[in-house]
Amino acid sequence: MTKIPHIVILGGGFGGLSAANEIRNSLDSSKVKITIIDKKDWFMVGFAKLWIMNGTRTFDNSIGSLNKLSKKQIDFIKDEIIEITPEDNSVKTKSKTISYDFLIISMGAVLAPEKISGLVENGFNLYDHDQLQKINEKLNKIESGKIAIAIMGMPYKCPPAPFEASLLIDSMLRKRGIRNSIQINVYSPAPITLPAAGPEISKQINDLINSEKIIFHNSKKIKNVKTKKLIFENDEADFDILLAIPPHIAPKVVYDCKLATEPGFIKIDRNCKTQHKNIFAVGDVTSLVVADPVTVPKAGIFAEGEGITVAKNIVSKLQSKENIISFDGKGGCFLESGRDTASIIDVDMFTEPKPSTLLTDSTSENLSKKLDFEKERLTKWL
Ligand SMILES: Cc1cc2nc3c(=O)[nH]c(=O)nc-3n(C[C@H](O)[C@H](O)[C@H](O)COP(=O)(O)OP(=O)(O)OC[C@H]3O[C@@H](n4cnc5c(N)ncnc54)[C@H](O)[C@@H]3O)c2cc1C
Repeated sequence: MTKIPHIVILGGGFGGLSAANEIRNSLDSSKVKITIIDKKDWFMVGFAKLWIMNGTRTFDNSIGSLNKLSKKQIDFIKDEIIEITPEDNSVKTKSKTISYDFLIISMGAVLAPEKISGLVENGFNLYDHDQLQKINEKLNKIESGKIAIAIMGMPYKCPPAPFEASLLIDSMLRKRGIRNSIQINVYSPAPITLPAAGPEISKQINDLINSEKIIFHNSKKIKNVKTKKLIFENDEADFDILLAIPPHIAPKVVYDCKLATEPGFIKIDRNCKTQHKNIFAVGDVTSLVVADPVTVPKAGIFAEGEGITVAKNIVSKLQSKENIISFDGKGGCFLESGRDTASIIDVDMFTEPKPSTLLTDSTSENLSKKLDFEKERLTKWL
């Protein structure tokens, strides 16, 4: 009897779920065994975090269960991955060793607030689902003062998200009738709001937040955080509530098996291959250079596109076909205005001579598309 190939997917986020579903939609369980390993048993579309922040959602009504994968004959193991051993095609979790024929690493980026001295004690991590409820309570209590949204490292997930957060907070404060008593400041180490999107789009984003009296402070490289004070390399700023986007790094196992060097990510090309045969990497755990220093942004839509690319190439290989495809670099991120509309930042990372980016008008239709985007992923993947 011939052995069924085993595809092991590390991480059940955008990259892992898109890859697993794409493979399963092409090959049934008699042709290929698929296993997803994740330390948590739920998936959430990243932008729902900002809805928990502004109180229009709860955690429980924003997640899908990875346990539902069994309906599609995709095995799910809830466990922590502690070792990848390319030499014997295996991965180790806390409780077992699992062999693979193909490995897809889609473990995302790790948030590392501890890298900034004083941050954990004095500020919130805006991207940590566990802190959103507390952030919401703080935002509902503040009566006057300064709210700081501070990007503390590049690259970070979903480059427009901090600006979207500022607009949603502006909306919350307006509804409470206290907006004029509170300053909202956004700090970034970058010279413009969205470096990957270029100066024109960055100016449009800056104009949009300025129109709501939100101030963008560029080139603010964080040194550390003190009580109610951000200490930058050449400056300081006061705050009453700090919402930080902490530095992002790759998971430790990736450094341990030398797929990347700390604090970087796994370098891939448009075929998402690593230096090891039959090991692929997709999504936020990777770094895909477009034209140095521009890389593909860390966003779910790109993790999804890369996951589908790898899946199609593995299926082709299993079917002994020659057609290998490359990741197309196309995608878009939503930017909610806080006035019941959203715009879409449409990106094509591989147009010549440079990536093309388009910011659409902010409309209620785009806000509906954002809701549909989430619903579609939760229903088609789980
Ligand atoms: C506020 C916010 C708004 C966003 N808005 C958008 C948007 O509008 N559009 C968009 O495209 N993207 C958006 N994103 C970004 C998007 O969520 C990420 O880019 C996307 O989740 C990356 O997918 P991934 O598969 O690479 O990683 P992830 O989705 O992070 O999945 C990685 C998985 O690996 C698991 N894992 C990691 N290490 C281990 C381990 N050692 N053992 C076991 N499991 C492990 C994790 O638990 C996780 O489930 C947003 C993000 C945030 C925070």
